[in-house]
Amino acid sequence: MAVERTLSIIKPDATNRNLTGKINAKFEDAGLRIVAQKRIQLTKAQAGEFYAVHKERPFYDELCEFMASAPVVVQVLEGEGAIAKNRDVMGATNPADAAPGTIRADFAESVGENSVHGSDAPETAAAEIAYFFSGLELVG
Ligand code: ADP
Repeated sequence: MAVERTLSIIKPDATNRNLTGKINAKFEDAGLRIVAQKRIQLTKAQAGEFYAVHKERPFYDELCEFMASAPVVVQVLEGEGAIAKNRDVMGATNPADAAPGTIRADFAESVGENSVHGSDAPETAAAEIAYFFSGLELVG
């Protein structure tokens, strides 16, 4: 399997509860390497641009408000099959459906405030990484 990079975001519900280290441990235990990472405060407009694909969904405004409500940690994870592996480590969108031991099963508060974001395909991973990081910030 090819080595991939994927974009991860530790969301405001998790940064508020000081869970960055515990979440990063789950990535590293699964063999994902954190090759770039920074803590930033998104504006609602920036969150809206990032989640533009969800513009027509009923939860879009709530999602943008939430993502701008406190700092987030944006990161690039690297590893064999990193995109799917990260989705496995994250667990299902709704924590009620997430498999035991996944980040969302252990930490998420609700379907909206679900602790992490992860890219879902190679094309979105490339675009999402480029949204937050320059090539110079990716040091492997
Ligand atoms: P995922 O983050 O698992 O890829 P989606 O792409 O479907 O899930 O949704 C993006 C984000 O939008 C979710 O992670 C969650 O924060 C929010 N969201 C999804 N569905 C709902 C919902 N029914 N109500 C509120 N927020 C939601």
